[in-house]
Amino acid sequence: MPTSNHRPIPELTEKQKDRFFKRIGPPDENGCRPWLGALDKDGYGVLGINYKNFRAIRVAYFLATGEDPGDALILHSCDNPTCCEGKHLSAGTQKQNQEFRLNNPDFSGENHPRARLTQAEADEIRAMDTEGIRLGIIAEKFGVTTAAISMIVRGEHFKLTADPKRADVKRMAGERHPGSKANDAIVRFVRFPNAAGLKHHQIAARVKEQFGVSVSTSTICLILKRRIWKHVV
Ligand SMILES: [Zn+2]
Repeated sequence: MPTSNHRPIPELTEKQKDRFFKRIGPPDENGCRPWLGALDKDGYGVLGINYKNFRAIRVAYFLATGEDPGDALILHSCDNPTCCEGKHLSAGTQKQNQEFRLNNPDFSGENHPRARLTQAEADEIRAMDTEGIRLGIIAEKFGVTTAAISMIVRGEHFKLTADPKRADVKRMAGERHPGSKANDAIVRFVRFPNAAGLKHHQIAARVKEQFGVSVSTSTICLILKRRIWKHVV
């Protein structure tokens, strides 16, 4: 089965180009333009063209240069894996990528957890760990390995932000977690049909209001998908 990486990118119509550019943010102070649209299961920005999915950074490169990157990897000069600014992108082989990383120790390749995730995501990963979500489930959500999640949780990647909120995060633990403060009522509340139309952050706010417990939006997502707390009907 062809992977989305290497599927040839078709010529985009003006309307399709428009859809692409609407999904990238305005340049930040580094000139980076982050992808704001959908992500695939591996955490890469993805754009549907003619009912097929293409990685956003590959489409960005294609639009900027007119060349399909083919089997090449897309490299970021800005070390910002979601950036779709054509000037920050180049196409390279795995070997060039490795050489580049050797010559630029601060630059992390796209297989490196540091490069695949943002600081905000790392904070979220640690919050989920605090809430007792199993590392495997977190890894799956972020599309990285359990080992990478484990390193982030231990503070080997990304700085540990001294977030005062984290200190008083109540343990809203998933099943089987030793620190579990099981609260079936909260899980039922999250899944209550009336909550169905609400966004995850709105549900989180209601849980906080109702139960005085902070639950991350990721945890709410996992509860709704029944990836955790499966035993609660
Ligand atoms: Zn950039």
